[in-house]
Amino acid sequence: MQKKTQLIRGVFKQTSYQEHRSPLFLNSSFTFNSAEESAQVFGGEKDAYIYSRFSNPNMTEWIDKLCILEEAETGLATPSGMAALQTIVFALLEQGDHIVASKAVFGNNKYVLEHILSKFGIHCTWVDIDQYSQWEKAIQPNTKLFFVETPSNPTLSLADLEQLSQLSKPREILLVVDNTFATPILQNPIKLGADIVLHSGTKYLDGQGRVLGGAILGEKKWIQLCFDYQRRTGVCISPFNAWILSHSIDTLELRIKEHCYNTEKIFYFLKKHPRVKDIFYPFDPDSKQYDLAKKQMKMGGGLIGFTIHGDLSDATKVLNSLNCFSLTANLGDIKSIATHPSSTTHAKLSKEEQLKQGINPNYIRLSVGIEGIDDLINDLKQALSKN
Ligand code: PLP
Repeated sequence: MQKKTQLIRGVFKQTSYQEHRSPLFLNSSFTFNSAEESAQVFGGEKDAYIYSRFSNPNMTEWIDKLCILEEAETGLATPSGMAALQTIVFALLEQGDHIVASKAVFGNNKYVLEHILSKFGIHCTWVDIDQYSQWEKAIQPNTKLFFVETPSNPTLSLADLEQLSQLSKPREILLVVDNTFATPILQNPIKLGADIVLHSGTKYLDGQGRVLGGAILGEKKWIQLCFDYQRRTGVCISPFNAWILSHSIDTLELRIKEHCYNTEKIFYFLKKHPRVKDIFYPFDPDSKQYDLAKKQMKMGGGLIGFTIHGDLSDATKVLNSLNCFSLTANLGDIKSIATHPSSTTHAKLSKEEQLKQGINPNYIRLSVGIEGIDDLINDLKQALSKN
């Protein structure tokens, strides 16, 4: 069966009411037919739903669909992308462990790996995403985990996952990949050597700005540990959010194709615009990352970054002049969004850290939606004409 048929028809389990789409199971617990059965279920001899803190049909349905797309053995739903990272590091690491991570990551991912984990004796070494000799040199006897976002937030830098896994696998280091920007439609990290994939479901997986969610995918031996952590600590997604995400994922491929189509058009428009200084887009044929992007990703994705000639006030003027791009703290939505990372998503980093990541004050990130392309280009045209 094709993946898209599996998503739409294969995963759904109808109840005795013969509904056509999966219902919402908002209930907190599930019943057993007997005391013996409840003992079997609690003892792990029989598989059944117990309590929605850690198991619920809406969570299962969403994750089963995501596993099909990511070609993962199994997975776990979390209440947000940040909760996915928290679960991975607290479930799989111990005091004294060491992480090597790419410098180019979402501000909160950096904060957790650096400031929160250090309180528990877990330290992180930061390396340039595509400098594999730096990754290798940073490895210590206690290195347990590599963490990378590819493409990264917000500069859309890429890591060659096959190369990273050649470094991590022989040393039994877990390669954890945040696949939020590419989505499983464009890139499957597990096939490229990743051990664990994490997602912010809040972005493209919902894609309509409705709910928060997250997911962790990979081999059962790792996901089971994450599940045990979730069961004890309650880092769980609400059934409602999982229900929304499960229905959203059915149209992910359609939406991603439209995002990619519009983004490519905007790329060619911005590339020749005299006010645009540098442009960041994985499928830029002039970029040093182009061959890698083509090898690793099916299309260029829905995000694009650019710097404009001038300074912060010029970038601010462009942002304030946009009408068809919302100024909002999200991405991956069907509605186009413009972001100024240095004052928002990455504002917690020092100016020096921002510059190390390539986040200049005149850098603008666009999350291109699926509105009409002529309207989007005309909007950028008029905003860039304001001096
Ligand atoms: N990973 C990436 C790459 C992100 O951009 C974000 C949020 O912007 C997250 C993780 C965190 O996701 P959430 O907002 O669902 O917690």
